[in-house]
Amino acid sequence: MFNYFLRNPICQELGRKFKIAFSSSEKDSAYTFIHDLGFIPKIKIANGLEKRGFKVVLGGGLGAQPFLAHPVFDFLDEDQVIPFTEACLRIFDRFGERAKRHKARLKYLINDLGIEEFLTLVSLERKALKNQSVQIDRDDFESTPVPPEPAIQRETISDQLKYVQWLKTNIFEQKQKGYYAVQIKLTTGDIKSETARSLADLADQYAAKDIRITVNQGMLIKYIWGHALIPLFNGLNKLGLAEPGFNSTFDITACPGTDTCNLGIASSMGLAQELERMLAEDYDELVYNNDIKIKISGCMNACGHHTLLTLAFMACH
Ligand code: SF4
Repeated sequence: MFNYFLRNPICQELGRKFKIAFSSSEKDSAYTFIHDLGFIPKIKIANGLEKRGFKVVLGGGLGAQPFLAHPVFDFLDEDQVIPFTEACLRIFDRFGERAKRHKARLKYLINDLGIEEFLTLVSLERKALKNQSVQIDRDDFESTPVPPEPAIQRETISDQLKYVQWLKTNIFEQKQKGYYAVQIKLTTGDIKSETARSLADLADQYAAKDIRITVNQGMLIKYIWGHALIPLFNGLNKLGLAEPGFNSTFDITACPGTDTCNLGIASSMGLAQELERMLAEDYDELVYNNDIKIKISGCMNACGHHTLLTLAFMACH
């Protein structure tokens, strides 16, 4: 998708942005349902043969007027993903709003036309495409190289209680047996450049050379050997990056708000910092709670995803 569409003239002059998300499973950790186009992989068996494809959702978005994406295919063959996307882009380009910027998103076009009419236009457009099918070469991308086993010195755990909580809330075993992924909770998504450099050094030493940003403003490092978890924890703890409660009630998402955003009318980051401090002091059992999530936006535009989850703060006049 990236190779095909980046700098492709088809999408160089759209009315506005167009967001595409891929999740890796039904868990939908990329939140496809709030994107213009979202894909969730699926496998089906037809005539004894395995076929790969995607469930497809279309026309979601947050902002002042949130829309849940419409499910449009339960299974779309993988070689049809690019033609379908191209047809959607062409329709958005041709019929999407140009004058009023705040209305120039796919979700409004679909709302105006109706999903059936939009899909009819897309299927007519598909007939005119040069590439009726685009094979996906599953090996034509750079995958993360698995790191060699690191040399580990025996170390004592720098904070026993925190380590136990961290193991429960921030670590999971990868499907590649014997390796663990470590999730890093970042208050308000902030990290100083020197801390980021030290984190990169730790990843070099104990994990794959690959640091991911997570959808809830955290980070993820992977391919960590089990016996490297203690020294990695000690290293992260020194940097303030081993706070337990990743994606728990403790892990608040906040937009920049008045700190850096011209549209902000409240300090979302200040509120997030204060709430996290108060929760850690008075309600530490919530470190294990994954049901209640807190999201904060400094105005109705919802960059802090406040329309998504259970406890939301949105600044208003
Ligand atoms: S939600 Fe936050 S970041 Fe988004 S426009 Fe409003 S104040 Fe700015």
